[in-house]
Amino acid sequence: MTRVTAYAAPSEAAPLEKTTIERRELGPHDVRIDIAFAGICHSDIHTVRGDWGPQSYPLAPGHEIAGTVAEVGSEVTKHAVGDRVGVGCLVNSCGECRNCLRGDEQFCSNGAVFTYGSPDRDGTVTQGGYSEQVVVTESFVVRIPDALPLDAAAPLLCAGITTYSPLRHWNVGPDSRVAVVGLGGLGHMGVQIAHALGAEVTVLSQTLSKKDDGLRLGADNYYATSDRETFRTLRSSFDVILNTVSAPVDLRAYLSLLDVGGSMVCVGAPAEPLPVNVSSLIGGRRSLAGSNIGGIAETQEMLDFCAEHGIAAEIEVIPASQINEAYERVLASDVRYRFVIDGSTFAD
Ligand code: NAP
Ligand code: ZN
Repeated sequence: MTRVTAYAAPSEAAPLEKTTIERRELGPHDVRIDIAFAGICHSDIHTVRGDWGPQSYPLAPGHEIAGTVAEVGSEVTKHAVGDRVGVGCLVNSCGECRNCLRGDEQFCSNGAVFTYGSPDRDGTVTQGGYSEQVVVTESFVVRIPDALPLDAAAPLLCAGITTYSPLRHWNVGPDSRVAVVGLGGLGHMGVQIAHALGAEVTVLSQTLSKKDDGLRLGADNYYATSDRETFRTLRSSFDVILNTVSAPVDLRAYLSLLDVGGSMVCVGAPAEPLPVNVSSLIGGRRSLAGSNIGGIAETQEMLDFCAEHGIAAEIEVIPASQINEAYERVLASDVRYRFVIDGSTFAD
């Protein structure tokens, strides 16, 4: 075991604090990564605060990891010391079930191992990327293209793949009219990726305060959802609505914005269930769907796509000592557009 410095929540009600966590000894297929940057995803906050159910504490979150390979196990072939690499939300899966074989490791029938707060194969509970180092089996480590800076690439490991995967699955392309609801970490990636796929992109944000940013990121249109007129103006306007909101939304109002045959895909995952009136679906052969991150091969595809199109996250780099303040700003929708922790500050 190696002990490394990390920031972890001691309980669901307490702020994160500096501590140490254990990383396993390097197995033959393991890669040890020096973490250069770790993004702060709203899921980190939901998880440590118990929104999605009880956790085991202390818990170090973080599943947007970018760094360099420090050491490789004896049988590693995919990565070498010094390589620029990333780890997202997944660190293992069975590799044999139908979902894994299709490349959807996130839906592993035998239980995917998530990067933190997840029972690992050795019986321990995984600890995430708010730490100096992580040890991950080589097949769950992806390559970060040279064109992407490590700090702005880190958020792609969750926010990037979580928006790329559904946009591809629902066949977004040059003829698509796409609305992205919520211009936060996920939303600002969704806008850039949908634009790069050729779609006409509309941002639906609570206010117009980030309109200039939204248009600069590639949106064609920008509306405030606090203005009820927006829902009248945009009725039946979209083929795909990507909902990235971390809080409950009025599904009926958003479903009315879908054209016949359109799909509303929820990736935002609030703690509370959302009621839906099925007549909103029946009345336009509409679909209401969800999507969960993406598989490992698709994550590599997304990174290569972002490098090719010059896309990355817009970030605010913070020292680890400011994680708790950053959480409060994320909860207040005051993030432009992802906080990224500087990995060199964990031990300060
Ligand atoms: P974020 O940066 O906080 O962005 C969420 C955005 O939603 C905010 O910036 C805000 O945008 C909007 N919003 C927040 N509260 C709202 C409210 N009460 N009413 C209406 N709009 C509100 O969070 P994130 O990291 O992008 O994550 C978003 C959600 O996706 C979280 O629930 C997270 O857990 C989930 N998630 C899911 C997956 C998955 O695989 N399905 C992966 C990662 C994250 P405006 O200011 O523009 O309105
Ligand atoms: Zn995430």
